[in-house]
Amino acid sequence: MQAKDIAELLNEPACEHNKKEKSGCARPKPGATAGGCSFDGAQIALLPIADVAHIVHGPIACAGSSWEGRGTRSSGPSLFRIGMTTDLTEQDVIMGRGEKRLFHSIKQAVDSYAPKAVFVYNTCVPALTGDDIGAVCKAAAEKFGVPCIPVDCAGFYGTKNLGNRIAGEAMFKYVVGTAEPLPVPPEQQRPGITVHDVNLIGEYNIAGEFWNVAPLFDELGLRILCTLSGDGRFREVQTMHRAKANMVVCAKALLNVARKLQTDYKTPYFEGSFYGVTDTSMAFREFAKLLNDPSLTERTEALIAREEAKINAELDPWREKLRGKRVLLYTGGVKSWSIVSALQDLGLEVVATGTNKSTEEDKARIREIMGEKTRMITDGSPKALLGAVKEYQADILIAGGRNMYTALKARIPFLDINQEREFGYEGYSGMIELARQLALTLQSPVWESVRKPSPWAKAVAVPGVELGA
Ligand code: SF4
Repeated sequence: MQAKDIAELLNEPACEHNKKEKSGCARPKPGATAGGCSFDGAQIALLPIADVAHIVHGPIACAGSSWEGRGTRSSGPSLFRIGMTTDLTEQDVIMGRGEKRLFHSIKQAVDSYAPKAVFVYNTCVPALTGDDIGAVCKAAAEKFGVPCIPVDCAGFYGTKNLGNRIAGEAMFKYVVGTAEPLPVPPEQQRPGITVHDVNLIGEYNIAGEFWNVAPLFDELGLRILCTLSGDGRFREVQTMHRAKANMVVCAKALLNVARKLQTDYKTPYFEGSFYGVTDTSMAFREFAKLLNDPSLTERTEALIAREEAKINAELDPWREKLRGKRVLLYTGGVKSWSIVSALQDLGLEVVATGTNKSTEEDKARIREIMGEKTRMITDGSPKALLGAVKEYQADILIAGGRNMYTALKARIPFLDINQEREFGYEGYSGMIELARQLALTLQSPVWESVRKPSPWAKAVAVPGVELGA
């Protein structure tokens, strides 16, 4: 990838960060945990496409250290779960055998698994030695008759966020628009109801949570052409250009795809979320608004009224258990504002929220939801997080998996909210799971036990163990 292509990707006009600096997203400060590289970002954005062979072209550590980091689920093929790498060694670099190895790796993947397509991810070593993965993919596609898509995302190009955009760019350049959607099958047609085609961009189906929401789309007559990329299929990505409305589910990953679909195919998009009752309802309303179908609007309002009444009745007992509990939220990839809104729906008080990875627009929305006195935290180091828990007297830390041991060692209740989690929280029914997990964590008897002084320390005066002690 040339420097001008990288600069172009960093200059994403649809991203609010762009107004401040054309960096794509904040660079980590020295000493802070850096997060993933561009390769990691690209792979994590595309890996959930389930019927594709994902080959990492590089030394084995690139694939080995990053594989399956995201707890995404597929309802069908599981090819995406098989780790594939060209496993470049020092000898390959010295002998200049990288391209040859890649070609043979594609052959092996095609022969062994008959994938719908092969995605090739470039990494630092072959990018430095100058392997032309585009040319290899072209030759392999002609030879084996399977689409081979180069994703030029070497780690040193930049941040994980840049990698997300590179992935989106590769999809837009090589895949979107290369096939047409099939006609709506008769069993999905209903008299008097127009079926509208839509896309969800940046929906990763973590722990299968999108399946909480998908039946509601069917009920409303919204056919999802593609969820880029949770539970996705190669053919679905090919047909994305035919959607009539797009929803950007994750604020930053793949925003360039939504913008380009709007520019080239005139498909309008909005940014939304399926976390929390309020935001789930808002997402359906936005679709109805963009599609401008009075019958759809009517059915959407009826569905929202029914689902909200049902879920509120089910949530009431949980709200009793959770009311007034103070939360410190430090999310990574998931939009802070959408989680804040979900927690407020449950009656919890969010005392401060992390905004390290939030866009300017996200921050404005957080202010809107939490008020002007909102406390935003940008330093996610263990010391800063524990200091914030103590200062704001939080009862629980909700954050990504990497903060788990920080919280547990300090004897603070912790809930994992990021992509590695085991539980799905999307949609109306996801709120029950979120409430259940929060209550289980907060009410666990373990906290009382571990905060007691140990029996052998009785002789020493311990006036109660403080949080974070
Ligand atoms: S920074 Fe380079 S070498 Fe390291 S994991 Fe990313 S692509 Fe691989």
